[in-house]
Amino acid sequence: MVGVNRWRKRGDRDMTNSSLVIKNLHVSVSGKPILKGINLEILPGEVHVVMGPNGSGKSTLSYALMGHPEYEVTEGEVTLDGKDMLALPSWQRAQAGLFLCLQHPIEVPGVTLESVLTESARAAGRETSTIKKQMLEEAESIGFEEKLLERPMNVDLSGGEKKRNETLQLGVLSARYAVLDEIDSGLDVDALAAVSQRIQGFTHDQNLGVLAITHFSRLLEVLEPDKIHILNDGCIQLTGGPELVNQLEEEGYQVLLGN
Ligand code: ADP
Ligand code: MG
Repeated sequence: MVGVNRWRKRGDRDMTNSSLVIKNLHVSVSGKPILKGINLEILPGEVHVVMGPNGSGKSTLSYALMGHPEYEVTEGEVTLDGKDMLALPSWQRAQAGLFLCLQHPIEVPGVTLESVLTESARAAGRETSTIKKQMLEEAESIGFEEKLLERPMNVDLSGGEKKRNETLQLGVLSARYAVLDEIDSGLDVDALAAVSQRIQGFTHDQNLGVLAITHFSRLLEVLEPDKIHILNDGCIQLTGGPELVNQLEEEGYQVLLGN
């Protein structure tokens, strides 16, 4: 059972007035409208969950937020602390504090994780000498084998290892808002527990705001959701509290959405 959200301690990062706001977002792919007016507001430390049937547009939302060129925003706004994200290339959205854990992380032969994280930190004007240490700490906290850190980015990692690799990057980069596209798919029970606890820690200690896309309630047993949104046919058709997940598991989408 997914529990009702408990009191959440706020970390010491100053997040006064911070927010990730999505207003009336319409997105087309290859000229076909997929998202038809998404509205969401996420505050620091909050966990918003997007659930929905296959093909409802969940990954389209994550790609559009991060600026994938194939996902064309035809209407609407996305702002982070009032800054227009849609006007920025992906790397500048990342610098502003947006992070996407991909549903299917990409293998990048010839590029090490350490070099990616070092360059990201450098581009953001952050200290780079502690990156390796942070990587080791994050790896340990989620049971990611140290020897895998030497591999080129995601190359020959299993599905679950790739998801842990994404979580590790999220920790090292100190993102402010993270979109997690099925971070729980492909993880075994122990890995899921470790990853969800780590992400819950980010929300609690660093005020990370989370938009978690998932099919499963298991992630949400640890990651305390503030709101559950049900996406169907490109629109958020229902929003509720954590109890909605249990209702969904009992009834399924068709009954829940009254179709
Ligand atoms: P979800 O993540 O909810 O399962 P997606 O956002 O991946 O759904 O897909 C929503 C719809 O958009 C589907 O009909 C899918 O086929 C279509 N779609 C997504 N990405 C592309 C793409 N790159 N090219 C063509 N169609 C796409
Ligand atoms: Mg998807």
